[in-house]
Amino acid sequence: MSKHPNTDLLSLEPEGLVRALESHFRQRDQPVYRIGQVRRWLYEGLSASIDEMTDLPLSERDALKHFFTLTQLEKARVEVSQDGTVKHLWRLSDGEFVESVLIPTKKRLTLCISSQAGCAMGCTFCATGWGGFQRQLTAGEIVSQYAASRRWAEKHLGDTISNIVYMGMGEPLSNRKAVHHSLSILNQGYGVGARRITVSTVGVVPGILELAERPEQFRLALSLHAPISDLRLRLIPLEKRHPLPEVLSALKRFNESGGKRITFEYTMIRGVNDASELIAPLADLALSVGAYVNLIPFNPIPYQNWESSEHHRIKDFAKNLQRRGVPAAIRETRGQDIDAACGQLRAHTLVQLEGSREREH
Ligand code: SF4
Repeated sequence: MSKHPNTDLLSLEPEGLVRALESHFRQRDQPVYRIGQVRRWLYEGLSASIDEMTDLPLSERDALKHFFTLTQLEKARVEVSQDGTVKHLWRLSDGEFVESVLIPTKKRLTLCISSQAGCAMGCTFCATGWGGFQRQLTAGEIVSQYAASRRWAEKHLGDTISNIVYMGMGEPLSNRKAVHHSLSILNQGYGVGARRITVSTVGVVPGILELAERPEQFRLALSLHAPISDLRLRLIPLEKRHPLPEVLSALKRFNESGGKRITFEYTMIRGVNDASELIAPLADLALSVGAYVNLIPFNPIPYQNWESSEHHRIKDFAKNLQRRGVPAAIRETRGQDIDAACGQLRAHTLVQLEGSREREH
């Protein structure tokens, strides 16, 4: 009979982890403090393997390995931008790739993590969207991006991660079970404050409503990019399934659930979504849910012949929004020399691979 696949310790929510370890160590007549030892190795020691848990007797490490596993990410590539942004491309156990990005600023070190390998949403401005969907990540694969990046940051930057954004590859709210587990693990296990964690979505309504129900004050970023339905349809195919008015009422529910902040992300693409007439509807949407608006210069992608709006136009947008009472800022583009926007490194790797395949034929 084949052995049941081992449980990944990193995929268990902290309470579930304690329960699983309690039962494991009880059956082995081990003292209760073993649970705390493993917990500390995971969440404080950022262990990459059970072998590293050296204050457990060798026999106990072997027994743990017999029933449990620890997700490990293999570092496929690490690139450091001139502005200090660090991009990791991770190879998963089945050969899929995901990426995470460390973004240092004066006060913070933010980690941007992926929730899926690829993405099925097909947003036309996004490199990941063009690359298609491969698979969901497990909670362990999501949180191990944090553990591995924090290890790297503490070693190479002498700094620890202060904020986490789910803005890498994938639509987090299309992988809700794993994402919810990962939120609990990051918050209750690793101790990252809920207000320092932002989940970004293109508008998956059931996911927004579920997030509104959580007692923790996780933040929400809506990748809006278009304040009117026909333009949104051109950029975000999800408009067909969850039209803007439906997204807006979910955001209102999120807003009413108390103390949770909403941000709109608005990537500015020249001649596509930067017309002055769009400022008023964008301001109305933001005011109706108390959202902060981030205006982001478009980072060109390999599949679309689009350019960023000119800087004066972006500034104009920001000023006009502020004049209407909407808090708005221009977000500088980071790590451009290393393709550090959502899904770009993987997209460029795929394009390079496709190019070399074409040349082979
Ligand atoms: S913007 Fe986000 S949801 Fe849209 S295709 Fe890219 S990764 Fe997916």
